[in-house]
Amino acid sequence: MRRHNVALLMEMIARSAPISRVELARRAGLTKATVSSLVAELIQAELVRDLGPEPGGAPGRPAGRLMLDPYGPVAIGLQFAPDHIAGILLDLSGRQIARDLRRFGLDTVSPTDGVHAARPVLRRLFDEATTAGRLVAGVGLAVSGTVSARSDSAGTVAYSPALGWSEVDARALVNAELHALGLHGLDVRLDSEVACAAHAEYRAGAGGDWYYLGGEESLGLVPVSPGSVLAGEFGHVPVRPRGPRCFCGERGCLRLYAEPAAIARSAGLPERSGSRLLGGDEPLIGQLRAAEPAAVRAVHQAADAVASGLVPVRALLAPEVIVLGGRLASLGEVFWNRLHARLPDGITLRQAKLGPDAALRGAAAKVIGAVIADPLAWIDG
Ligand SMILES: [Zn+2]
Repeated sequence: MRRHNVALLMEMIARSAPISRVELARRAGLTKATVSSLVAELIQAELVRDLGPEPGGAPGRPAGRLMLDPYGPVAIGLQFAPDHIAGILLDLSGRQIARDLRRFGLDTVSPTDGVHAARPVLRRLFDEATTAGRLVAGVGLAVSGTVSARSDSAGTVAYSPALGWSEVDARALVNAELHALGLHGLDVRLDSEVACAAHAEYRAGAGGDWYYLGGEESLGLVPVSPGSVLAGEFGHVPVRPRGPRCFCGERGCLRLYAEPAAIARSAGLPERSGSRLLGGDEPLIGQLRAAEPAAVRAVHQAADAVASGLVPVRALLAPEVIVLGGRLASLGEVFWNRLHARLPDGITLRQAKLGPDAALRGAAAKVIGAVIADPLAWIDG
């Protein structure tokens, strides 16, 4: 009961900061005494901070305003992409403390060597945390591809076409790097880049029930309502029954029309132009700005395929709102207007708030999310 209540208050503070103890008690249906005692524990553990009364607030007994402690624990996010390893250090409220980007051809080496190349990034981010006197709560990993996960904290990379990884225990490989740096017992989490980006978008403040459609190298559709899990692969929804064969064995999968490599190919550009974090989307965006017919046609074809893929999704899941992020979002009006025009009835399209670093931020935010979801585990650990 105490565990549940502490988590409930922590989530409310995360979503509604700054918030008073009185308001927390009202929303949670708890007594003010209970809230005060649980909040005192959170403050003691440096998870929550009391900003004091509002300046110029009403006279009488001043009410403190609570927020997640910006000097509390921090989280590291790592993104493994075909052409780089990116790292970020975020505080509890999602504010960036440091980041690092290393160009590296992960798709040209073994998974072990690829993860090994992340060691300098990890070392730098841990040094930044130590210098700032902060505890690191854990490391979150974002990879393009399918992650087989029974729970959020377990799993391996089942298949990543972009990295050439198959059945790779990325958590174990990262743990080995952490041990080599003398770091033990950290929470290491793994998720797909799409799930990470969706989580970052959720933490960036988009409330309510919605689905995130996006991806950097791949294509995914993820529900964002807290606690929901979707293991499906949106990119493999068949949209053209007589289309070309996909590696999954089906014909005409959505990914063959709407994945970055597919769009680049039909626009007459090199398939492997690089990650967005390295400016890899600029050649296509330049062609769209110049209204190059081949580029516009390729992007329209992708939008049509996504709209077709959403027809069975609407039938099964009836999503009201879809937030468009990832690489498709960077295609601007050409993609947006076409998809908007072809969208199945009853679905509203919204633009994601975050840019190319959404997955990276989300990898770290998943670690923070775990602290928020169970603060006592962090306090007792
Ligand atoms: Zn397929």
